[in-house]
Amino acid sequence: MPKKATKKELISIVVPCYDEQGVVDLCHRAICDVINTLADYDFEIIYINDGSKDNTLEELLAIQAQDARVMVLNLSRNFGKEAAMTAGIDHTTGDAMIILDADLQDPPALIPDMIKVWKESDADVVYGQRIIREGETWFKKFTANGFYNVINFIANKVHIPKNTGDFRLMNRRSIDALCQLREKHRFMKGLFAWIGFKQVAFEYNRAPRAAGYTKWNYLGLWNLALEGIAGFSTTPLRVASLFGLIISILSFAFGAYILFHTLANGVDVPGYASLAVIISFLSGIQLLSIGILGEYVGRIFGEAKRRPLYFIENIHKSDK
Ligand code: UDP
Ligand code: MG
Repeated sequence: MPKKATKKELISIVVPCYDEQGVVDLCHRAICDVINTLADYDFEIIYINDGSKDNTLEELLAIQAQDARVMVLNLSRNFGKEAAMTAGIDHTTGDAMIILDADLQDPPALIPDMIKVWKESDADVVYGQRIIREGETWFKKFTANGFYNVINFIANKVHIPKNTGDFRLMNRRSIDALCQLREKHRFMKGLFAWIGFKQVAFEYNRAPRAAGYTKWNYLGLWNLALEGIAGFSTTPLRVASLFGLIISILSFAFGAYILFHTLANGVDVPGYASLAVIISFLSGIQLLSIGILGEYVGRIFGEAKRRPLYFIENIHKSDK
């Protein structure tokens, strides 16, 4: 009697694309070159067109027409990488999924090794950890490093591993956990870490972009850093109140000093410089604290609206 074939495991590959007309084709070929050699698994590839202004959608549809494993999610506008990824993740049906950037910075050639690590370590999540940040300035490396130190110092209990991106393999139960986190302010690195489970690192060299341009600039990175810090910790609020407390104690002591000084020596007119310094210092601290408070109020506002994370204009997939 022939041995009953056990069903192969299905792996979903999720690729968010925004203005990537120069690379999607390259990307798809690179993915196919790799997955065609992995006969032990079935694959589905989910491309998300995140409201591209160029011909990315047309190129993706051409790819989809030729490859039945491909599904294209066309979002109704540009929602940003986090939402685009979330759309893709929500539509995965695999036993595991791998998230890749379309620009080949997360080399598809590493997929087999990643799967191997997953199988050998029995982990729920295998996250890519960059060894060398090729093609990045020292300033970006320096600021990235500082960011990880700060966030891990203040984020309550959640440890965000250094030099990780979205490139990772996740099994079904960790995907299901992630899908339950529906917050609007999506700091993905934090959400990935927050779910817990057994997570192991997979070291790789991050290549420079294959073509096209990065969608990040320093303002974007600054916002991302704020997102991470305010989304995962209330420490800044505490620091603001601590500042308040310390300054109140100092002012009280200073007040007492002035009182006794005046009683002992009479009224002392000069003091313009010290007054100016104190007033500007205090206004600075007050504005800073209001700003910090505002960050959190803004987040409450965003979450309170309970809007969906994305809208899909249409889904293109083969009707197998
Ligand atoms: N991306 C997206 N929506 C956006 C911005 C970026 O789907 O609004 C995708 C982009 O197409 C790429 C990935 O996210 O596949 C990473 O973007 P990028 O290469 O610009 O970021 P970097 O690698 O420089 O961090
Ligand atoms: Mg990139």
